[in-house]
Amino acid sequence: MIGCRCPVCRSDDPRDKRTRSSIYLSMPEFKILVDTTPDLRHQALREDLDRAYAVLFTHPHADHLMGFDDLRRFCEMQGGPLPIYGSEATLAQIERTFPYAFNPAKKVPGYVHVIPHVITGPFELGGLEITPLPVPHGAVSTLGFLFSQAGRKLLVYLSDCAAVPDPIRELARGADVLIIDGLREKPHPTHLNVSGAVEAAQAIGAGQSFITHQTHEKSHVDRTQELPPGIGVAYDGMKFEFELH
Ligand SMILES: [Zn+2]
Ligand SMILES: [Zn+2]
Ligand SMILES: [Zn+2]
Repeated sequence: MIGCRCPVCRSDDPRDKRTRSSIYLSMPEFKILVDTTPDLRHQALREDLDRAYAVLFTHPHADHLMGFDDLRRFCEMQGGPLPIYGSEATLAQIERTFPYAFNPAKKVPGYVHVIPHVITGPFELGGLEITPLPVPHGAVSTLGFLFSQAGRKLLVYLSDCAAVPDPIRELARGADVLIIDGLREKPHPTHLNVSGAVEAAQAIGAGQSFITHQTHEKSHVDRTQELPPGIGVAYDGMKFEFELH
């Protein structure tokens, strides 16, 4: 946190350097970015990303969107417009915020240029089945995502949610990995707190679960110690490998 001198913000543990929440899926032939945080440029440089063939958006809050203009570099490297996916409301908000990206007269290179795709149900990208998981997040709804392959639930990403409704728990049940919002200890009107995230994670019963979107309240080590077995804390640069068939 800017200007904060707390032990977590001053920690030397790289897992305490928390940038804004985002994930990246890398398959041999296809690369998917989820959200364009204000930290996207730094995150992409840190992880040496040079491709993003599609971008999914969970919701249009500033902490998940404001790195959007940095997609221009991916357009430039790939030589054309970039397909983006989100709910109708999310795509409309992105177009209001970055109208030039939707204007075919503003061409690659030089400008970010996107082709919007409204998510209305499950779809496929790069050999993955992607199931949208709508979850409440205050005034807006967030889309979580279930990524499956050949019928196997690999990863569930539930960022920014105040609750996980039963039908969503059912869809997520039995995934290999769950990443779920768990902002802080105190309840929050639009985010799950840590105990809410633990309750939902235990109900979903993924092989491994990790809480994300953490504030600077607790260090990685301290937070990890108080979580039950099978639930950990996500950190910047954390990687999972999945076997694809
Ligand atoms: Zn701090
Ligand atoms: Zn949000
Ligand atoms: Zn957020």
